[in-house]
Amino acid sequence: MNCHANKSIECTVSQCAYHCSDANFCSLDRILVGTHEANPTQDQCTDCMSFRKK
Ligand code: SF4
Repeated sequence: MNCHANKSIECTVSQCAYHCSDANFCSLDRILVGTHEANPTQDQCTDCMSFRKK
């Protein structure tokens, strides 16, 4: 698989089209992180908005 792992972005979401399946890194140059909460209080409140289904 030809995946350019961005060593600055670790990720374990293997279901994402941008995930390097042989290593836990994202292949994008940059990602957008957001939230689905009005008032985020913990890590579970944040989301990778760059996620795309494989
Ligand atoms: S786009 Fe987001 S969810 Fe997908 S591999 Fe990159 S960091 Fe992970």
